[in-house]
Amino acid sequence: MGISEKLMSVSDIAKGLNSKVFSAEEITRLYSKRIREIDDKLNAFITVTEDNALKTALDSDKSRKNGDIVPKLSGVPFGVKDNICTKGIKTTCASAFLQDFIPPYDAFAAEILKNSKAPLLGKLNLDEFGMGSTTENSFYGATKNPNDLSKTPGGSSGSSAAAVAAGEVPFALGTDTGGSVRQPAAFCGVVGMKPTYGRISRNGLIAFASSFDHIGILTRTVYDNALILSELAIHDKNDATCLNLPKEDFTESIFTGIKGMKISLPKEFFGEGIDGEVKNAVLSAAKALEKAGAELIEISIPHLNNAIHAYYIISSAEASSNLARFDGVRFGKRAEKYSDIMELYKNSRSEGFGKEVKRRIMTGTYVLSEGQKDKYYEKALKTCSMLRAEFENAFEKTDIILTPTTPTAAFDLGTKTSPTQRYLNDIFTVSANLTGLPAISVPCGRTQSGLPVGLQFIGKKLDEKTLYKAAFALEQEVEF
Ligand code: GLN
Repeated sequence: MGISEKLMSVSDIAKGLNSKVFSAEEITRLYSKRIREIDDKLNAFITVTEDNALKTALDSDKSRKNGDIVPKLSGVPFGVKDNICTKGIKTTCASAFLQDFIPPYDAFAAEILKNSKAPLLGKLNLDEFGMGSTTENSFYGATKNPNDLSKTPGGSSGSSAAAVAAGEVPFALGTDTGGSVRQPAAFCGVVGMKPTYGRISRNGLIAFASSFDHIGILTRTVYDNALILSELAIHDKNDATCLNLPKEDFTESIFTGIKGMKISLPKEFFGEGIDGEVKNAVLSAAKALEKAGAELIEISIPHLNNAIHAYYIISSAEASSNLARFDGVRFGKRAEKYSDIMELYKNSRSEGFGKEVKRRIMTGTYVLSEGQKDKYYEKALKTCSMLRAEFENAFEKTDIILTPTTPTAAFDLGTKTSPTQRYLNDIFTVSANLTGLPAISVPCGRTQSGLPVGLQFIGKKLDEKTLYKAAFALEQEVEF
């Protein structure tokens, strides 16, 4: 294996580096060149950090030359969604408000990769503050889907998925509050993992809805994904919700097969509202898994269909509180014209936030207000508890749950839909955020017109290993 123009996996690159087939500098130059060549068309990057990446690559080469024992991802380039803080590198959340924000520290996950000497190629576009499912809510303009430039790559980590799919980066960090890693993974045809809540520290991830926010991983292969999670799942004492668990190797049991694995299909997710081609691709992938030795079971999780309402109520409520810090004084670009402090806040927030972010803040403020709180917020919290109980119950009889990742394949950029119609995009993904359960999207086929279709596995708490095992089996079974 030599350095090739062919799109390489993370593990191919790590192997090539370890056996000195190519250097980290060469591989970083190759990816930087590709970004320069194609990103004008794709618009995946908000900031490209080529010089920074080369410096890290040279450093990584030096440690290899010295014969040091290097971390697994040393010299493997990557990209980071632009709502994850990177020290000294602009982190905008794709918002006009934060267009000049340069964090004084690294997010915990970014720091792990920096300490590994993985070259950071740049910061990736998103829907402003992670609110959206198309990347169209970005101050920097929409990203395009590399499978078809007229389509959305999904969102909000649409650009992280697009950059991986187009071979601009071998892997990327995204974030997932209601599906933002898995839905773009499905639309772009890559693997997207949202681990158990608390597996990866949220320290340095700019909060949207703290109790649902996760950092997730986008890769070309299932193995790569497991490899990276093994590096990132480390306890962080600065995030009170980060779990303190022994270090695990998630690649370990990936190849052991799925004989006897119980895979359940919730009937609520295969009814109305799902596109025929998506449904067929997902069901034929399920059949392939059955042939490989899994047992398919039909189950019911009655509250699944309420998850979307609960998600938009709670996430907006939390957003309205989290985004209060952007006021033009502590954080955010200050408005130029104001006559007193109240007007400073008002003008800065009016100018700084985009339309969707304002909609969420208003919704969130409303559902938390006196007189409305019991009707919306409290009820939504109850839905979460019921959903958790229903999942727990389901997992007594099954190892994992299989669903489509999205109701349709990628749709046209510029599609006019009402916000609430757009929210339905997340119908299959939000329940894993409401419950904190791990979930992964894997490509399982294509539509007639060649667009990728994603299949989602939801697992038991902390059981990412079974998810990777099933996802790997699927990767072997379906031609993608
Ligand atoms: N599309 C969802 C939303 O707009 C999910 C976003 C996310 O996961 N960050 O809220």
